[in-house]
Parts: sequence; structure tokens; C-alpha cells
Amino acid sequence: MRRTGCFCAALFLLVAASSRAAALERSDVVFMYQADVRTYSEYGATVVAWGGTPRPETLEAAKGLRFFGSVGMVTEFSRYYDRFPTNYTEGLCRDIDGQPVKVPWLTDHQHRGIPYWWCCSQQPIFRQYLRERVEETMKAGAHGLHIDDHLGTAGGLWLGICFCDRCVEGFKAHLKSLPPQRIKELGVEEPAAFNFREQVRQWIKADKTGNRKPQQHPLWPEWTVWQYRAAASFMEELHALANQIAQRHVPMGANAGLLWAGHLSDYKALDLFSAETDHHASARRFSDLPVFAYRLAEAVDRPYAATASGGDWAFVKENNSHGLVQGWIALAYASGQLFMAPHRQWCYTPEKGTHWYTGPTDVYAPLYRFVREHADLFDGHETVSDIAVVLPHRAYMRTPNQCQELCAKLAAANLSFRILLAGDDIVDLRLRAEDISREKVLLVVDRSALLDTDRKLLEAHSKDRVVVTDVDHAISATQPAVRVQSPAPVRILPRARAGEAVVHVLNYDYDAASDTVRELSSVRLKIDQVKLGISPQCTVSWVPFGGREQQLKIEDGHVVLPKLNLWGILVLKSRI
Ligand SMILES: [Zn+2]
Repeated sequence: MRRTGCFCAALFLLVAASSRAAALERSDVVFMYQADVRTYSEYGATVVAWGGTPRPETLEAAKGLRFFGSVGMVTEFSRYYDRFPTNYTEGLCRDIDGQPVKVPWLTDHQHRGIPYWWCCSQQPIFRQYLRERVEETMKAGAHGLHIDDHLGTAGGLWLGICFCDRCVEGFKAHLKSLPPQRIKELGVEEPAAFNFREQVRQWIKADKTGNRKPQQHPLWPEWTVWQYRAAASFMEELHALANQIAQRHVPMGANAGLLWAGHLSDYKALDLFSAETDHHASARRFSDLPVFAYRLAEAVDRPYAATASGGDWAFVKENNSHGLVQGWIALAYASGQLFMAPHRQWCYTPEKGTHWYTGPTDVYAPLYRFVREHADLFDGHETVSDIAVVLPHRAYMRTPNQCQELCAKLAAANLSFRILLAGDDIVDLRLRAEDISREKVLLVVDRSALLDTDRKLLEAHSKDRVVVTDVDHAISATQPAVRVQSPAPVRILPRARAGEAVVHVLNYDYDAASDTVRELSSVRLKIDQVKLGISPQCTVSWVPFGGREQQLKIEDGHVVLPKLNLWGILVLKSRI
């Protein structure tokens, strides 16, 4: 049986590799939750990403859509309790004092008078619960599977958990598997007898100030590596289970918000990300930070369907800031990723707890219909990069904000960038020579954080490239494919496929008072057709959202846009 299982797993892996690109098309319209037939139709929906448990009537309403059933590792406490009412405590996470831990964003939730405790995805009883949920979801007819809070226990590392017996035993096994030299470096004398919980307790006790936290213990980074690996391994297991039940490769997504460091740890188990992504709504302006998440997903060759954070939606609801959301939708699609239809969104503030936002269809649906009507301008196109950011995952884990802000600065300077992600002990990924070789400028973030093999590869293949380590230097050293002259901020995002380039132009001149963008005229572009892969003889058309398509002239690479509201696409096609 075991041998058959291995063969099936290998087969599924092959299928996974070939079908992953199809998990989402760039022109898909993704609903987060279930809706009615009419709403799906108004938006032109093609996918339901967090569909819950499918029922015959919900599948009927979603006929023709790819329906992902969803299972939550943190949000389903009530259901878990009802499944194991007498022994549910066996599956709870434990802090260093052995106490259970409440889910910080569900503190307003209770079930039968019991708070929503964080459950441990290393505990057999909770794993059994999750396996049963995956099984029932797939048997109910889901096309795909979505896992919310996919990191399970590892998602609570920032809370200083989990020190349950299973986690402590798992870490011991991890230490035993390490090379002797590494064990020595960690200062562990006897891995087979190592009890991290006791070590941390003694270490805290030994400090007279009483200020020590488990996360400051010298072995916490290694503990983190193990927790992430254990989480990824369980995700692989759940994916294999879904595949086995459905007898096919089941596309699997997760709420892996890539602006949260650590969420790439199980990327190999996933076909797509459908995830909460901070948009900083309260700043009352369009943010560049989501582009970082979009490029990170691209770096691991997975599509990314975003939604905003609970805090963002609470702000939008409170202030009726629909215009901000329109900008978020346009940015995602212009970046080659997707933004889930904001039909019904979870809102959260510490004061109000969970509440809900219902987005106005007449405001949002036209953007999605625009995408569907011009699907050929989205599907099959790739990012045209002016510069590549070589990003060691280790550096991102250490200084996430710094890495995000650096990339946001490139986006704000209208430099189109790719991320070349270099792996570490948590993310299994290596730099590739062909990726390095096709870039003219490389911005290397913290070379010391690269693994030796990646450092050597980078040195060998970047000799005739411009290599910089500072973002301002990068901006001055880069010659973009598209330069812009505009009286107010815009964002330029070029994408291309054979014989065709599309240059997305976004109006970033958002006026918070009117919750809309100010119309821009006289936006001029200077286009390097060679860099876009377009012949000098080409046709140029302007496809604006909310306006009529028109042909434009290109003279010596110069194009003048007629006017720009929220978003338009300049389409260049080589004449044959
Ligand atoms: Zn645990």
C-alpha cells in the first residue's frame, strides 16, 4: 500500500507541476464567498475561492464556476468542539506555562461559553478533525480546496506558542535529524533528551529582570524553522488526501498573505494564493505595497487572488471609500494578479470585532466586466521587468518591512520589477541562472543572507550585469521600457506576450475627499519597443476602463494618452 501511495503521490506531483498555471487565469473573476446566481452573473464570476462546505444548492448556484471548498485551521473552533466535545482540550495549543491561547482576532467569539482557543495542527485529534473536514469537503463535490490559516500552529509563533507535548517531541526529532556540526553550533548536547519547553522555562527563570520571552531564546530561530516545516508537511498531507479522494489533482489555495513573512513556507503544497493583503486603507491613498505580494507570488510561479485585510474593509465600510477599492482592483489586475470581488467582506477592528461589508455591485462589477471583456489583454502576458530584485527569503524574514518598502519605492518610481527569490531553511527554492541572465540590472538585498550555492550562482552569472545594493542607486541606474511624463502620480505596469505588449496605466492621483481620482490629461509615454519585444512597426490602441477604445499614433516611441481616469491599457501589436 505504501509503495502504491508513493507512486500516486509522484503522479500527482507531476500533474501538479503541469496544471498549476491553470489554477487561475489572469482574467478570472474570483469570488471569496458564496453568492447568488444573479450576483455571480453581474460580476462575470468564474471562481469561488473560499466557498465553505459545498451543498447541492450552492453548487447549483455556482454552476459553471470553479468552486473551492474551504477548511479553516483557526476559525472552526465551534465545529471542532462539537466533533470532540469531551476531549477537545487534547488538541489545544499551549503556551510556555501550559495554558491554552485565545485566537487574538476572535476574542469576541465563544462557543457554549468556551472561547475560541488556538488549536495545534501537530496534535493527532486536531489533525483528525482537519482530515475529516477535507474529506467531507471533497466528497461534497468541491473542484478545489482552500485552507484558511494554513500555517496552523506555526501561524501562532508570534504569540510564543506552541509548547504542547507533540511540538516539543517534534522539535526533538528535528534536532536529531540535523548534522552533528549544526547540533554543536546550536549548543545542544543531547538531542535525544532535549526538552525545549523545559529549557525555555529555566532560561526565563534564570533572568532576574523577568522580562524574557520565549521568542528571545537563542534556539527560537531553529524552533521556527521546524514549526514552518512541520506546517508545510501537514499541508502536503492534506493536499494528497484531497487528491486521493477526488482521484485527480485538486487545485489547492491558502490564505497565504505574502505581506506576512513566513507564509511562503508551504508554497510547494499550493497551486495558488487567495489571501488577505494589507492595503493600508486608513492612509487614504493608493498603496504600492500589494505589488510586493504580487511579485513574490510570481517569483514562485503561483497566481495570487487578493482581498484586503479585515482592518481595510472596516475602514472602507465606515467611510464608504469605494473609490479606494476600485484602485486596489485595478492595481491587482494590472500587476498580472487578481483582486477578489468585494461582494461581501469580513471587517475587523478591536473595538467592533467581526462585522461585514457588502460592496455595491454597481460600483465594482463594471471593473470585473472590463477584465472579462478584454480577457485577451490579461491572459498569457508576463511582467516586462526593468530590474530584478534578488531577495533572500532569510532577509525577508528578518526585515519584512524594509524589503517591502524597497520594492514599493521601485513601483513608485515606475520601474517594473521582478523578484528573484532565493530560498533558505524554510523556503525550498534556488536562484536560476536563466532568470539572472535575462535581467540588465540586479538589486541585491543583503547578499550575506544568500545560501552559498545561490551566492556563487549570482556571482557567476551577473558579471556583465549592473549589480547594485541600494534602491536609490538602482533607480538611477535603470532605463525603463516605458517612461512617463505626467502632471500627477501614475503607475506604469508593462506586460507582454509574443508580438503584443500591454502597458497598464493607473491614475494614482486619488482625492480622499471625493473618493475618486482626478482626471488626467497630457500623460505622455516614451516607449522602448525593443525592450517590450515589439517591432518598430506596430499598431497602438488605447483601451480605457469606462471609455471607448481608440487608435493612437506612436512617433519615435512617443505616445500621448487622450485622458486618464482610473485605468487604461495601451496595447501595442507588432505588424506582421
Ligand atoms: Zn503544539
